[in-house]
Amino acid sequence: MLTQRLILTGDELDDAPLIEQAAAIIRAGGLVAFPTETVYGLGADALNAEAVRRIYLAKERPAWDPLIVHVDTPEAIYRYTRNQPPVTERLILAFTPGPLTLVLPKREAISDVVTAGRDTVAIRIPSHPVARALIRSSGTPIAAPSANKFGRPSPTNADHVLHDLNGAIEAVLDAGQTPMGVESTVVDLTTQPPTLLRPGGVSKEALESVLGEVRLLSAPLESGEALPAPGLSLRHYAPHARLLLCAPTPEAFYGATKDALSRYAFVGAMRPDGWRTPTEPRLRVFEWGAWGDWEQLANRLFLGLRTLEKQQTHAIVCPLPPEEGLARALHDRLTRAAQD
Ligand code: AMP
Ligand code: MG
Repeated sequence: MLTQRLILTGDELDDAPLIEQAAAIIRAGGLVAFPTETVYGLGADALNAEAVRRIYLAKERPAWDPLIVHVDTPEAIYRYTRNQPPVTERLILAFTPGPLTLVLPKREAISDVVTAGRDTVAIRIPSHPVARALIRSSGTPIAAPSANKFGRPSPTNADHVLHDLNGAIEAVLDAGQTPMGVESTVVDLTTQPPTLLRPGGVSKEALESVLGEVRLLSAPLESGEALPAPGLSLRHYAPHARLLLCAPTPEAFYGATKDALSRYAFVGAMRPDGWRTPTEPRLRVFEWGAWGDWEQLANRLFLGLRTLEKQQTHAIVCPLPPEEGLARALHDRLTRAAQD
């Protein structure tokens, strides 16, 4: 199969003919990768079980790991879910369209393949204009996990998508780098209080301002166990190079990089602005951004990991952000990516 790259440029992000071409593929049961404000998604018609099955094949994703359904209106959230608690409406008002995924009891129409046999469905309204235009044009909810091979860093541009999935999908809508760079926050509204299943673009603190209390899941489970949230599988978001996390100080980072150079032939470093690294030709540096500017660091996290692994590094050194605000999502992705 030849994967088409449908390029949307700055002023014509909602280029109607290209969007319509992609929507026709979705309606015909095909696979289209598309940009959202978080990362690129790999989309199929959520009401077509055969089409959704192809997502798992293309990604080599295990069948127990359910997908997020993308819709373009609050009405659609209510149409495909049931028994929504009253907080649902307040969350929708406060955070959508945007990077918040709600887990709610599902209705019949949503295929069991989408939910991996669960009675609940994860659903969200993306804010990216291309994602919204595609959903509208397709006239159907779109099931979409991140558009990468299972376990790999999520794709934040169309090159990343093609690196993992070229030949396995019909098309990718290319609108450049995604604005946020980390995945959506997933919150389970079937528990009381609601449970934060995956930290992401909407912070726990922001959720608490609407929900009052939010329950956190404790330690990650063993891979293959029944997972309340599939992103919890132990090793995930990982580059091929070994990821070495260090304390978030310039001194610890310098020391960890030096140590890695003594143990690995080629080393990568995710370097915050103004931090030092040893002068050594075997070291490849990715200029990550300003430490503390979590939006910028989130935006460039997966880009950095994929850039450094392409430079043939055996290990990548990276300072670990704290568990607060948007940094919590970075902490989560990096600790999972660093698992053995
Ligand atoms: P991905 O988009 O590849 O990051 O994967 C989809 C994400 O959706 C997973 O990591 C889960 O956190 C979440 N998810 C999807 N369906 C459910 C569900 N029914 N219950 C809990 N989490 C879900
Ligand atoms: Mg994913």
